[in-house]
Amino acid sequence: MATIELRKVYKTFGNIDVVKGLDLVIPDGQFTVLVGPSGCGKTTTLRMIAGLETVNSGEIIIGGKVVTKLEPKDRDIAMVFQNYALYSHLTVADNIGFPLKAIKFNKSEIKTRVLGVAQSLGIQELLDRRPKELSGGQQQRVAIGRAIIRSPKVFLFDEPLSNLDAKLRLEMRTEIIRLQRRLGTTVVYVTHDQEEAMTLSDVMVVMKDGVIMQMGKPEEIYRKPKDVFVAGFVGSPRMNLMSGKAKSGLFTTESGCQFKIDSSINGEIIWGIRPEDVKILNTKPDAPQAKVEIIEQLGPRAIVTLQVNEQQITAVVDNDHLQKIDNRSDIVIDSSVEDHHYFDAKNGLRLIDN
Ligand code: ATP
Repeated sequence: MATIELRKVYKTFGNIDVVKGLDLVIPDGQFTVLVGPSGCGKTTTLRMIAGLETVNSGEIIIGGKVVTKLEPKDRDIAMVFQNYALYSHLTVADNIGFPLKAIKFNKSEIKTRVLGVAQSLGIQELLDRRPKELSGGQQQRVAIGRAIIRSPKVFLFDEPLSNLDAKLRLEMRTEIIRLQRRLGTTVVYVTHDQEEAMTLSDVMVVMKDGVIMQMGKPEEIYRKPKDVFVAGFVGSPRMNLMSGKAKSGLFTTESGCQFKIDSSINGEIIWGIRPEDVKILNTKPDAPQAKVEIIEQLGPRAIVTLQVNEQQITAVVDNDHLQKIDNRSDIVIDSSVEDHHYFDAKNGLRLIDN
C-alpha cells in the first residue's frame, strides 16, 4: 500500500498547458477517482503517476519515494487500460502470468498464482483461451488479473469499463470495489462519468482544464459543491442553475420568475436547486406557477421537465406524487431554503455553507 503525492506537477504538450501545477495527495489504501470533462487532463495525470508520461516540472512521490524520473517498471504500480491491452497471441493464463514471467518467477509458482487470481475473478475456466475468444467483460477481468498478480503498491485504472455494455459495467464496478476492499491497495481510477465516480470513490477529485476544482468524499461534493462548475457537473439529472438577482429573501430570474430564498443573500447570483429538491405541489398560492412539459419514467421515479415563464426546471418526482400532476395542469414549485445552493455570479464560487 502507498500514499501518492503530486507536488506542483506541470505538463505541457507543445504550447498547450494540460496539467497546471497539480498538488494532490492520494490517500493510502483508498479508492480515489479523477473525474472531469473530456480533455481536462485526467489520463495525462494518471500516465504521469505511472511513468508513461514525463513531467515538465514538479515531483511525484509514491510510498514516500520520489519516483518522478523512474521507469514505469520501477514504480511498483500496475495499470489497467480502457482497451485492455492484452497480448492476442497468448492464452489467458499467459497473459495473467506475464508480469511474473518478466521478473523470472519459476513456472510452477506462476501456474499456482495464475490459478489463484483466475479463481478470485471467476475466469478459471477460460485459462486456455485466447483474448479473441472472450467477451469484453471477460477480457477486462483478464486485464485486471494481470494487474493484481504482482500485488503492486498501486493500481491505476484508465476508464476500464467504458467499452462494456451498461449491465456489465455495473457488475464490473461492484467487482472492482470488492477487489479493492479485499486487497486494500491504493487505487487511482480515471473516468469522465460522474455517476461512476460517485459510486466508486472514497475520494473524488473533480478536475477541469488541468486543475483540481474540488476534492473530497463524493457525498460532500454532491451536497456542497464549491463552485458552479462542480455543481453542474456532479449529479444526474443536472442541478438547475439560474442567473438572477437576490434581494430581501426573494430571487428573481432573468425571465422574471421569483423564488423565496435565504434572506442573507443579496446581489447578482446563480441560484441552484437539485432536481430531487424541487417539490411539486398542487396548492400553494405564493409559489411560482409551472407548466409540466415532459414526464420521463424511471421506474419508481420520474424526471419531470417544467416550464416556469421562460425558465426550464427539472424535477425528480416519486411515482406516488406523479399521480397528482400527470394531467398537465398548472402546478406550483416549492422547496425548503436549506436545499438551495447560491453562487457568486462573477466568480462562480459558493456563497454560503448551508
Ligand atoms: P478524456 O476523458 O477525453 O480521455 P482527459 O481528461 O483524460 O480526457 P487527457 O487525455 O489527459 O484528457 O488530455 C488532456 C489534453 O492533452 C487534451 O487536450 C489532449 O488533446 C492533450 N493531449 C493528450 N495527450 C497528448 C499528446 N501525446 N500530445 C499532444 N496533446 C496531447
